[in-house]
Amino acid sequence: MRSILITGGSRGIGRATALLCAAKGWAVAVNYLGNAAAAEEVVAEIEGKGGRALALRGDVAVEEDVVSMYAAAQRELGPLGGVVVNAGIVAPSLPLTEIGADRMRRIFEVNAIGAYLCAREAARMLAKSRGGQGGSIVLVSSMAARLGAPFEYVDYAGAKAAVDTLTVGLAKELGGEGVRVNAVRPGLVETDIHASGGQPDRAKRLGATSPLGRPGQPEEVAEAIVWFLSDASSYVTGALLDVSGGR
Ligand code: NAP
Repeated sequence: MRSILITGGSRGIGRATALLCAAKGWAVAVNYLGNAAAAEEVVAEIEGKGGRALALRGDVAVEEDVVSMYAAAQRELGPLGGVVVNAGIVAPSLPLTEIGADRMRRIFEVNAIGAYLCAREAARMLAKSRGGQGGSIVLVSSMAARLGAPFEYVDYAGAKAAVDTLTVGLAKELGGEGVRVNAVRPGLVETDIHASGGQPDRAKRLGATSPLGRPGQPEEVAEAIVWFLSDASSYVTGALLDVSGGR
C-alpha cells in the first residue's frame, strides 16, 4: 500500500483527492487547519470503506507544524510514496491599490511559503539518497498564475506563480532521486474557497464563460492529481497541467 499526505485534505479539491487515493487502495494522511470535523468526516468515509486514513492538524505556513505533521504521517502510515501540496487560501476581491501588507503577507505565507515548506519536507522524505523510496510530489497551483487575477487577487496569483516555478526547479533537483514533481492548475472549481473570498457564486458565474461552459468539480481535478501520483505518469516531471475547462 502506498501512503500519501495531502495538505488541505479536509475540504474541496484536497478532500476529493483523498477519497480517490483511498479508492485506489492508498493510505491517506489528511491535513487540515481548523476544521477538524471535516477532516474526521473524510477519515471516517475512507475507514468506512475499509481504507486507512489519519487526520493531522497543522498550518502549512508554520515550519514546526509542517515538520511534525510529516513525521506523524510517516510514523502512523509508513514511508510516504506521494505528497499533494494543496492547501491554499484566497481573500476578498480587490484591485492591488486596495490590498494591504498584512493580507499580502498571509496570502504569500500560506500559498507560497507553505507550498515551499511542504515541498521541501516531501523532498527530504522521498529522496532516495536520504533513505526515501522515491515517489511523486503534486503541487496545486492555479490558472490565476497565468491569468493574473486582475481586480480580484493579484497577490494570490503571484503566490501561485511561485508554485509553478517551484515545480519546474524542484523537478530538476529531484529527477535523479526517483522523485517526480508536477503541478495542476485548476480553473473555476466548485468548492468553499469562493465563499471564503466573499463570492459564493464565483465558480458558477465565471465558469459559464469558459470554453466548456461550466465550472469544474473537485473530483475532476482529483483525477489529474491522482494520475500524477500514480505510475501511469512515470515519464512526466516538471509539468504544469491546466485543469480549467479551456479557460
Ligand atoms: P477549500 O475548499 O477552501 O479548501 C481549502 C483546504 O485547505 C481546507 O482543507 C483547509 O483546511 C485547508 N487550509 C487552508 N489554509 C490552510 C493552512 N494554512 N494550513 C493547512 N491547511 C489549510 O479550497 P479548494 O478550492 O479545494 O482549494 C484547494 C487548492 O486549489 C488551493 O491551493 C487553491 O488555491 C487551489 N485552487 C482552487 C480553485 C478553485 O476554483 N476552487 C482554482 C484554482 C486553484 P480547513 O478545512 O481546516 O479550513
